[in-house]
Amino acid sequence: MPAVFSQVPLSEAEQRLFDTLLDNLDGMVYRCLYDASWTMTYVSKGCETLTGFSAHALLHNHQISYEEMTHPEDRAYVRTTIQSAIAQHHRYQLEYRIVSANGELIWVAERGNGVYDAQGHIVALEGIILDISARKKVEQDLFNTEQQYRSMFENATLGMFQTTESGSYLNANQALADLYGYPTSRALIKALNNINTSLYVSEHRRAEFIEEVRKHGRVRQFESQVYKQDNSIIWISENAHVVYNTRGEVLYFEGTVEDITARKQSEQQILQQAVTDNLTGLLNRNALNNKLTSLMQQADLTRTKLAIGFIDLDHFKLINDTLGHRAGDKLLENVAQRLTESTRPTDTIVRFGGDEFVMLYPMLRAINDVEPLLTRVMDAVSQPLHIDGYTFNMTCSMGVSVYPDHATQMDTLLSYADSALYSAKNAGKNKSQLFSSALAAQLNERNYVEYGLGHALQREEFMLHYQPKIDLRHGGIESLEALIRWQHPERGLIPPDQFIPIAEETGSILAIGEWVLRSACRKIQSIYQTFGYYIPIAVNVSPIQFMRGNLVETVQQVLKDSAIPPGLITLEVTENARFKDEAMFVRCLHQLKGLGVRLAIDDFGIGYSNMAYLKNYPIDELKIDKAFLQDLEHNHTNGNILLALINLGKSLHKSVTAEGIETLYQHTFLLDSGCDVGQGYYYHRPLSDDQLHALMHNHQAQFKHLHLAK
Ligand code: C2E
Ligand code: MG
Ligand code: MG
Repeated sequence: MPAVFSQVPLSEAEQRLFDTLLDNLDGMVYRCLYDASWTMTYVSKGCETLTGFSAHALLHNHQISYEEMTHPEDRAYVRTTIQSAIAQHHRYQLEYRIVSANGELIWVAERGNGVYDAQGHIVALEGIILDISARKKVEQDLFNTEQQYRSMFENATLGMFQTTESGSYLNANQALADLYGYPTSRALIKALNNINTSLYVSEHRRAEFIEEVRKHGRVRQFESQVYKQDNSIIWISENAHVVYNTRGEVLYFEGTVEDITARKQSEQQILQQAVTDNLTGLLNRNALNNKLTSLMQQADLTRTKLAIGFIDLDHFKLINDTLGHRAGDKLLENVAQRLTESTRPTDTIVRFGGDEFVMLYPMLRAINDVEPLLTRVMDAVSQPLHIDGYTFNMTCSMGVSVYPDHATQMDTLLSYADSALYSAKNAGKNKSQLFSSALAAQLNERNYVEYGLGHALQREEFMLHYQPKIDLRHGGIESLEALIRWQHPERGLIPPDQFIPIAEETGSILAIGEWVLRSACRKIQSIYQTFGYYIPIAVNVSPIQFMRGNLVETVQQVLKDSAIPPGLITLEVTENARFKDEAMFVRCLHQLKGLGVRLAIDDFGIGYSNMAYLKNYPIDELKIDKAFLQDLEHNHTNGNILLALINLGKSLHKSVTAEGIETLYQHTFLLDSGCDVGQGYYYHRPLSDDQLHALMHNHQAQFKHLHLAK
């Protein structure tokens, strides 16, 4: 019980000391009655600072009672709190609001106790009331912010958590509970008591998380698959960091979790679409690099070989163009199906584009092991295929390179397989071809030639040789055949067989063909000017000129420019030219014929067995292929065929020429069989300009009839 308020009278000095002390205390020291108004019988000077009322105004309720001063909402609380303390003879301590003289709310803390008389009856209360508004404000602000964060935490749509380093939850919000499929965050915290083992699908994921957090203090967009409460799997992305205490020790991890399952699924779908071919469902060329890389690694690890096969369907373009894309698509689907059926489960099939497929055959022990696999594929493709009422006998060509034998670089391997395919196609299709160094050399050579061909015309490296055609009956030269030669700056004279096919492929045959025709016409003109008579010249025309060039216009223009009688030119067309588009071919022949030139079928007999078409062709001459002259002395079959061909030509009223006559025997045989014209080394080899001129000067007799014809 404070001495100040004891009943013992104080000395004046003592009283002053206490007053000084009390007056200098923060807040208001008081003594009041235990009545309905808390009637103040003593208040210290602090009264005015605390309440804005003077001590006099409050004492004995002169102006206001302390009960009235107490905030109406808090009065009951104050009274019951003090009552219950008094009843137990305890000190009381409470916080509440009063209203100051200027109407301001002031938070106060009051501490005090009852004063009892000798019988133990309460006579008064003594205590101190302090202004705690400032502290209350800080507390309230803190509470408010805390409330805000709580609310953010609880209502966030992002999952939030605090976990111990060892893997249990300290805190989780509702969003996280929702995300992981728990009814409440509490249920989640309870059930997921070991994150290390029960959350992540990958058993190493938590360790990776911890490692990352340790290394950088945080993880960002840490994507993992996790189990939900019902054991289904979702993708999440976590952002988290470590919270340390002041000593720098790890307190806990805290962070956010986002469900990214939808995004992952669409990413995967896009990824899947990006590597899948829509039509066939096979992998597409985007997938090739990855697949190849991993199979090459596998081959390294297992010390096995990997074969890479390029497949190209033969004549697919023709089917696609003639029957339409729908049939073409169906055909590709069927082929894809067959490829799949004819490969081992470990093999990979990629649709490279168009009618090209790439096969990857891993785990081969030896290069030769690939052979049976190729045979199976080729067989499967070549089984008759029925589409839209048509039956197709598809074939394919295949080029194969082997890792690591042929190359170790992916690009090189692919280009080798492609080269081998190219060679298979050139060798007549329906073939598979394994890459080899010989093939590589061949291809290098080809590239070299192709490169040189690009400039040959401008650099005037081409020349014509002329091989006479002999009238078998009177032995004179009846015409010449122009045969092209390429005077290569490094390789010397290159025969046409070695560059015409390439020129056909690159398309440069069109310009070359025109040059040949012009040169031949010029030759006719110059011979006429020198010798005074015309000598007909035959030129060879490539099928490509028929199919792709505007052959008729070109011939017309050249004839016009050279102003020679058109009948002096014979166009030699090989049988193959008719192959692609029969109607166009026949129309073209008629138009050429209309220009007045002569037409000959070259290499007759080796192309197509069906000769019925011959009747429809406006041709003048059949040139029987030299193959039938081979070994005529002993080979009676050839002799019989020759006879049949000559008779066929005669019955169609065509002039019949035999080429490749090398011996007297062949000459006599053909003469006796009724063949009209002969050509071959037996009479003359193809002659250079100079040789031809020498011949014309020195053996004028051979040209006598041409003088007459003039
Ligand atoms: P081709 O038109 O059937 O020409 C006949 C080929 O047989 C020529 O070969 C000729 O030199 C050769 N030859 C002639 N007599 C004999 C003989 O008695 N025995 C043997 N074994 N061969 C003989 P060349 O000049 O190498 O021409 C080959 C092919 O190149 C020609 O066959 C022709 O298809 C093509 N060609 C030549 N010049 C041209 C041209 O200007 N344009 C086109 N598109 N092709 C041409
Ligand atoms: Mg010819
Ligand atoms: Mg020929």
